Amino acid sequence: MSITDMINLVDMRTIFFSLIMINSCCTLFLLYLWKQSHLKYPGVVFWVANFAFQVAAQILISFRNLIPDWISIGLANTLGAVGIILGYMGLEYYFGKKPSLRSHILFFLCFTVLHGCFLFIWPDLAVRKFLIAFFWLVINVRGFRLMLGRREESITRYARPLVYVNALSALLNGARILELFIKRGGQQEVDYFQSGWLEKLGLIILLVLIVALAFSIFLSLDKRLNEEFKSQAEKYLKLFHESPNAIMLTSLKEGEILEVNKEFMTLLGYDDDKIIGRTTREIQFWKNPEERGKYVGLIKRDGRVRDFEVEFLKRDGEVMTGVFSADAITISGREIIITVISDISKRKVMEEKILDISNRDPLTQIFCRRYIFSRLDQALKDYLEQGKIFSVSIMDLDHFKRVNDRYGHQGGDAVLIGFTELVSSRIRASDIFGRFGGEEFILISMDTDKVQTREIINRILEAVRGSRVSYEGHGISYTFSCGISDCFDFAKEDLTVEGIIHRADSKLYEAKNNGRDQVML
Ligand code: GH3
Ligand code: MG
Ligand code: MG
Repeated sequence: MSITDMINLVDMRTIFFSLIMINSCCTLFLLYLWKQSHLKYPGVVFWVANFAFQVAAQILISFRNLIPDWISIGLANTLGAVGIILGYMGLEYYFGKKPSLRSHILFFLCFTVLHGCFLFIWPDLAVRKFLIAFFWLVINVRGFRLMLGRREESITRYARPLVYVNALSALLNGARILELFIKRGGQQEVDYFQSGWLEKLGLIILLVLIVALAFSIFLSLDKRLNEEFKSQAEKYLKLFHESPNAIMLTSLKEGEILEVNKEFMTLLGYDDDKIIGRTTREIQFWKNPEERGKYVGLIKRDGRVRDFEVEFLKRDGEVMTGVFSADAITISGREIIITVISDISKRKVMEEKILDISNRDPLTQIFCRRYIFSRLDQALKDYLEQGKIFSVSIMDLDHFKRVNDRYGHQGGDAVLIGFTELVSSRIRASDIFGRFGGEEFILISMDTDKVQTREIINRILEAVRGSRVSYEGHGISYTFSCGISDCFDFAKEDLTVEGIIHRADSKLYEAKNNGRDQVML
């Protein structure tokens, strides 16, 4: 049995019925693809329309001889042509080209008018067949130009499945035109469903082509989505790792470190990713572990945290100060904290330096009057609230005018510096020593009453007596007087900063009147 006999065994209507069924299934399949991808690729809906129009056209053709020819031939082929043009427009949208509606309408009208002429005015099946095949072929050629004329390698890659189907379709249409030329001459209007084996073979190839087209669209979309997803993922991964800020992903519950970027490793001094899978507690990330509780508490409450200043530890134990901003996110059902850390350790040190400079007297580098008052306020508060005692000593250099007169202002300055250095070396770290005015100084002694302070001052008096400040070859000697008061000089309710200073000042006055170079309390 030859192939033609085999083909002839199948009834034309059966092939046609299968064509409609398969085409309908493919339309549904494309509808599904459209739902999955229409937000990204606007062209897909046009392909669904193309398939639907072809189904409609084929249904009309299947009613040949049962309904008027202008419907089963004229309208059917018009619907088919609209479908093909929509399909082509879908291709244009899919490859990022804006379709020219005018040229499409013109092309469609040319086809419809010519087809109508050879249906109604000069009925000729061969010319109509030629017109249809030619129309398709033109679309095929335009499709090649659209898909292969692109420079971008990625587009060429996901265009490939569509290019193959387009080539197959072009071959079929070319063969149809060739067949018409070989047979030459007009064909009689025959019952379409009584067509010969060649027409049946054409339909079978068309059927294969339709399935191939639907699958090629699926493959192309799949490839494109995958590639775009891959490049997106690469982009965000790069963004994550190359970020100038340290980023860490931890689980909300246990604080398990899930992912860190390069900057995080550099900042914390980790040169490998051994911290992944361990908790922040295990790697001793938090300087004060209770800070984590506070931090996580805020994230749980608000879903995010902004500018949370915290001290954390590097791998080698060095303390760093960072500003943390975090968001709670859910990935695969797991609650995760994404933390972005800006290292402000250097800024912090600078800020502290600036603050310290602003609190100090420029000549002697000891604390200035303003700062002393703020510490006195604090000392008073601590005494009233917690009972922490303190005493206040005011020291004034004796006959300082004479020093200035004899050695000049700069000589006087050298004495002021010499005095502060001597006192600073003889007091405790917890004591606060400052310049109160010209050659007047103040000492706040913590946890010390005035009797204990007097001993310290006496030792300083002794040291000053035995010291000389060298200035331009001179050894300048000097003395000072001191008045002391403490918190016990007042009833709690009467104690004020001004009061305690005033009392120490009047004791200083007494010391001056008593012959200077001494301490009074
Ligand atoms: P006494 O306190 O023993 O009664 O005598 P005194 O000479 O020290 O008296 P007084 O407190 O009136 O004088 C303080 C002098 O200190 C006056 C002022 O010129 C000088 N003085 C104030 N500030 C500075 C300073 O920053 N550098 C120098 N060299 N002298 C200063
Ligand atoms: Mg003085
Ligand atoms: Mg004075």
